[in-house]
Amino acid sequence: MMKHYDCKNYINLDCEKGQCALSKNLIPIDGEGSDACPMFMQAEKCGVCKNFADPDKYGVGTCKGFAKENWAYASCGAFACEKFNK
Ligand code: SF4
Repeated sequence: MMKHYDCKNYINLDCEKGQCALSKNLIPIDGEGSDACPMFMQAEKCGVCKNFADPDKYGVGTCKGFAKENWAYASCGAFACEKFNK
């Protein structure tokens, strides 16, 4: 199930909650009420980029988007990455 947390419209406020940019509602990161709505749009994160490979169980994988390969977190925001590729 998709979570608000992975949505492009999610604005992080602190380690427990965020706000939806569309509805302006406060929404929890996990637990009750954390499931996404039908307006969900996948946020640009390393984990959904084609250059991200071989994540382990902690979500740590390899970024192959640049000349030099490096490790990356799947949950890392990629909205400002010039090599982001979906
Ligand atoms: S899933 Fe829906 S409610 Fe949640 S942040 Fe995205 S648009 Fe807003």
